[in-house]
Order: sequence, then C-alpha cells, then structure tokens
Amino acid sequence: MQADFVIIGSGSAGATMAARLSESGRHSVIVLEFGGSDIGPLIQMPAALSYPMNMAMYDWGYKSEPEPHLGGRQLVVPRGKVVGGSSSINGMVYVRGHARDFDTWAQSGAKGWSYADVLPYFKRMENWHDGGHGGDPAWRGTDGPLHVTRGKRDNPLFKAFVEAGAQAGFERTDDYNGEKQEGFGPMEQTVWNGRRWSTANAYLKPALKRSNLELVKCFARRVVIENGRAVGVEIERGGRKEIVRANREVIVSASSINSPKLLMLSGIGPAAHLAEHGIDVMADRPGVGQNLQDHLELYIQQASTQPITLYKHWNLWGKALAGAQWLFFKSGLGASNQFESAGFIRSRAGVEYPDIQFHFLPIAVRYDGQAAAEGHGFQAHVGPMRSASRGAVTLKSGDPKQSPSILFNYMSDPQDWADFRHCIRVTREIFAQPAFDAFRGAEILPGAAAQSDDELDAHIREHAESAYHPCGTCRMGAADDRQAVVDVQCRVIGVDGLRVADSSIFPTIPNGNLNAPSIMVGEKASDHILGQGMLPPEQVQPWINPRWQESDR
Ligand SMILES: Cc1cc2nc3c(=O)[nH]c(=O)nc-3n(C[C@H](O)[C@H](O)[C@H](O)COP(=O)(O)OP(=O)(O)OC[C@H]3O[C@@H](n4cnc5c(N)ncnc54)[C@H](O)[C@@H]3O)c2cc1C
Repeated sequence: MQADFVIIGSGSAGATMAARLSESGRHSVIVLEFGGSDIGPLIQMPAALSYPMNMAMYDWGYKSEPEPHLGGRQLVVPRGKVVGGSSSINGMVYVRGHARDFDTWAQSGAKGWSYADVLPYFKRMENWHDGGHGGDPAWRGTDGPLHVTRGKRDNPLFKAFVEAGAQAGFERTDDYNGEKQEGFGPMEQTVWNGRRWSTANAYLKPALKRSNLELVKCFARRVVIENGRAVGVEIERGGRKEIVRANREVIVSASSINSPKLLMLSGIGPAAHLAEHGIDVMADRPGVGQNLQDHLELYIQQASTQPITLYKHWNLWGKALAGAQWLFFKSGLGASNQFESAGFIRSRAGVEYPDIQFHFLPIAVRYDGQAAAEGHGFQAHVGPMRSASRGAVTLKSGDPKQSPSILFNYMSDPQDWADFRHCIRVTREIFAQPAFDAFRGAEILPGAAAQSDDELDAHIREHAESAYHPCGTCRMGAADDRQAVVDVQCRVIGVDGLRVADSSIFPTIPNGNLNAPSIMVGEKASDHILGQGMLPPEQVQPWINPRWQESDR
C-alpha cells in the first residue's frame, strides 16, 4: 500500500484533508481509520447524541487520571472511533471561536493564523443557512461542504433564555459566528436535512467516490521514520502488521489524545520520557503531549413549573415516537441536538472579549444522558473558557495498544475557582429574570442551599464535567520555539515529511466548541500541504463591547 499522502485519522481535520488533498485528482491519498461505519440512527439522528459517546463501538473509552483538584475523580474523555471521528459522536454545536482567539494564536508564534488569515478557511468550509433568524452573511460561507443550520426554537424556553440574558443587561447577538460573539442568541448546529452533518457526511463520503482516495480500516501503531524523514505508517489489521508507504508525506490527525501518543511511539517527544519506555529518540521535542487544555463545565438546573420541557418525551414511548418521526421524515424532535440558544459573556470588567459560554437545554439532564432529573426542568451548561490550567498526555508504556495517561490538572489555577463560582452566580442571576417567571421552579443543581464560596467549591469539585474539548498537545509555534511541536505550516519540527493537523495543534483553546476550528485546521493545512498558495487574508474587526473596561455587560 502506497500513496502520495497518508493521513492517520478520518475525524474533523482528517476527513477534511482527505477531501481537499484528493480534490484535484493529481495526488493519491490513503486515510487510515481504526473506527468503523457511522450508519444508523444512533449517530445520524441528532437528538440521539448522548448514545454514541458512551458506546465502546464508537468511542476510544479513555479516562483521565484521578484529578487532584476534583477530589481524585476520574473524568471520561470520549473520542470518536468511527469515520468522521469525534464529529460523528459530538454534540453538533457549531462555534468558530472568537476572532481574538486566533489573533492570540498568531501573537503566540503561530504566524499566519490570525483571524484575518483563518476567516477565508472558515468561509470555505461553511454552507450556512440562517433559518430566517438573520446574521452576518458577509462573515459567513455559503458554498462549502459543511452545512450549518439553526434549530427551530419552538420551545418557549429558548426565547426566555435569550430574553433573560438581555434583561440582566447583557448583549444580544444574531450571529455569534459573525461580527459579534458577545451576547445571547440562537445557537448553530452541524445538522442538515435532519441528519448529523459530520465530516464523514460532509467531506469523506463524497470524496471516497474518487479513485485516488482510499479508506483503510486499521490500527496505526507508529510513523516509520528513516534518516530523519517520515516514509510511512506501521499499521495492524487482521492481527498482521504492515507498512503503508507515503511518497510525499504522512499527516497525523488522530486527535489531541492519539496524535501526541503516536508521535511519542514514533520517537518524537521528550527524550527522557521516551527513554523510560525504551523508545529510540528521533526528535527530542519536549512539548509533545504537554499544554493539554479543555473546557470544564457545570449544569445549572432549574425545575420548570410548566410541563413544556423535553421531559415529557423522556420515556420509552416518547423516544420511540420521536425516533419513528425521524426515521420516516427526518423531522421532529429527533432532528435537532436541542441546543438552540446560546450565550457568550465576559466574566468581569477588564476582560476584552467573552470568556464564559452558555449552552441552554429545555430539559434537566447530564450531557451524556446518564441522569435526568425527575420531572420538568431546564438547564444551562456553563463554564470558564480560558482557564490557565494545563495538563499532559503521556505514555504509560511503549505498547501502542495501551491507553495513554491523561491528566488535565483541572482547577489547578486559583483563578479557576473564582471564575467558576462566578459562572454559577451569574447563571442564577439570569434564571432569576422576569422572562423565566412563568417557568421557574426550585433550583435543582447546585440547589439553593449552596451559597457560600465553600459550598459552591464543594459542588464544583463533585460535579464539574468535561465539555469534551481537549486540545493543544502538539502545539503549533515558531520553528525556534523549543516547546512547539509543529511549525506554522503544521510540519513536525525536526522530522521531514511529517505533519500534525487536528485539534492538538491549537496553541490555546478557543472560546467555543472545537469541531469548527478543527475542520478549519484541516482546510488550511491542506493548502499548506499542497503548496499552491493560501487564500488571501480578510481584514475584519470583530465587535468589542465599548464598555469592556468598566463593565462585564
Ligand atoms: C462527546 C463529544 C461531544 C462534543 N461536542 C461538541 C460539539 O457539540 N461541538 C463541537 O464543536 N465540538 C464538540 N466536541 C469536540 C469536537 O468534536 C472535537 O474537538 C473535534 O472533533 C476534534 O477533531 P480532531 O480532528 O482533532 O480529532 P477526531 O475528530 O477525534 O479524529 C481523530 C480520528 O483519528 C482516528 N484514530 C485515532 N488514533 C488512531 C489510530 N491509532 N489508528 C487509526 N485511527 C486512529 C480516530 O478513530 C478518529 O476518527 C465534542 C467531542 C466529544 C468527544
């Protein structure tokens, strides 16, 4: 097996590159993917989102190490193991991130990745439908493969949430992916014609019709490096080991957990750590696996006094009915992820752009579907978006089949605690607004009894959950930055013919969910790899709250 480009992983970034690199027909491309098919309603029906993330068939099944600041809890770290990768098991929420996030990337050494540089790639990937809600067409793309839509917001609670945000004095926004992220407004989703619009559906499957693109189901064990150059990938399938050769380049897109793991197994990483596991060092890169970041969040749950929440469908009969309607018509409750209203706010005066995100849901339930509150309720997922806490992905052994060690060090920065308490209190303030008067029952979680800093801290320690946004473990930076793993063209520093392009290269976590920026990385990396020139930068200025220095709203 041999191709010009060999890509490890068919996820958000990998599937995108598979399509772009094979587009001209001039290059042969092989994509190596351990996961299998995404056929069936559990993946394709948006409202079923809590199922695949819990299924061994679709998820790598990772867990964090005991987190020292969360009472030693081990948090689940789901990662897609299926075509489309995590875009096939995620919550389908679509957020680019704030323009300033990417400007920060550029300032930290990722030159050429400012918002002006990445905006043309966000536009190229998008096929945006505003659903009659308005927005910023000049900032959006309308011909790309990735359909982005908005839920119908039929449930009155969606409007109540936006209204309450405004009543509390915060901004409104019609399009947080456009000029103005800050504010409350409709949420966007990667759902199209009632189906999950993963990168498998958007990019990979249409591209697989080309004869120059091949998908190979196998387990990638390591990158083969000869004389300082990546020449292929050692894979395992059907119990046999083989080598897939790359004429030009190997591209690692195995996610922020498996990409650093694969690099380390290939001899690229902190030399002393590799030596501990008997791995020959090809490139001593101390940053591999470091700089692990994530979003941590809480669900603030409130009982509803009116029986209008999704709880009325949260039973076998209700689910069967929604499932049948989706199966036959691709419509009804099954056709939305039910995250249809959002909010982005700043935690305090002096913070220039939003650092808190809300997802609103008209039912009180855990993200992974494990526990719904008894009775009608609603909730906001909330959490600080720019924590200074950093963790690491390291090897437990030199055996590729072993899971790596994942330690986030959540809440290790003292500011995290102040920020999280504020998140709880500001959500309570929003739920207390007149817009919720007709719906508001008792607070379910954290519960009205939790008021003091100590009580809130105890709740956070026990209940904070990952929003499933790990990133940063193969950080992009200047070629002379010792901690950087890839340069600004996604080339692994110190090895020829090898790139990493996925969520692991983010220097810092963006202010939003990570599917969109991961796909953007796939789009932009494709142009770097093809070497045919980049899309011209578009200089735009995002809306910045004129009161940011004196007020949080
Ligand atoms: C449960 C969940 C919910 C989420 N919700 C949202 C959301 O609502 N909105 C949002 O924007 N983001 C969300 N995210 C985050 C987002 O989906 C991911 O950050 C993004 O998909 C990461 O893309 P990636 O290209 O880095 O990796 P992935 O998409 O994870 O792709 C990696 C691919 O590589 C394959 N692979 C890995 N190792 C090997 C190997 N050794 N051999 C062969 N193949 C291999 C994997 O099977 C996978 O297909 C969520 C994530 C999860 C897990």
